[in-house]
Amino acid sequence: MKHFKEITVKEVSLLICDGCSEKVEPSDYTFHEFISVSHSCGYGSIHGDGKQFSIDLCQQCFADMCDDSLTITEPTYEDDEELDENTMSRLAARNILLAKKITNKEEEAIVLKRVNMLWDAQHISAEPNELYQLMDLVFAYQGISRD
Ligand SMILES: [Zn+2]
Repeated sequence: MKHFKEITVKEVSLLICDGCSEKVEPSDYTFHEFISVSHSCGYGSIHGDGKQFSIDLCQQCFADMCDDSLTITEPTYEDDEELDENTMSRLAARNILLAKKITNKEEEAIVLKRVNMLWDAQHISAEPNELYQLMDLVFAYQGISRD
C-alpha cells in the first residue's frame, strides 16, 4: 500500500529580461532561449564570500553584452549517434526560423518538411508556436495572406 502526500512544485511562469525588461511566457518561442545565470560566491569573490547573484537575459541582451567574446559553435554529433527525423528537421528549420525569413526554394523545402512533421498531432501539442511561426514564414515567402 502506498500513502501519498501533496507536494507543491514551482515552475517558471514568466521570465523578465534584466537588460531590456522583455517579458516572455513558456509558450513563447524565445522563452527557451533566455540565458539564466546564478552563482554562489566563494572566498575571493569581488561580490563577497557567501553572496549569491543571478541574472536572466533575453538572447539579444546576452549577445549584446558578450559581443565578440561569445564563442558560438555548430552542433556536432558523434558518428554513431543516430538523430531521429524530428530532431534533424527541427535543427534544419531552426536557423531559418531565427532569420525570420525564407530566402530560397531550398529553405522553403526544409520549412515545408518541418511543417509536415509538426502537423502530426503528437508534435503540434508539443510545439504549437514553432508550427505557426514556420507557417507564417511559408505564407510570407509564397505571398499568401492568412486572412
Ligand atoms: Zn533583453
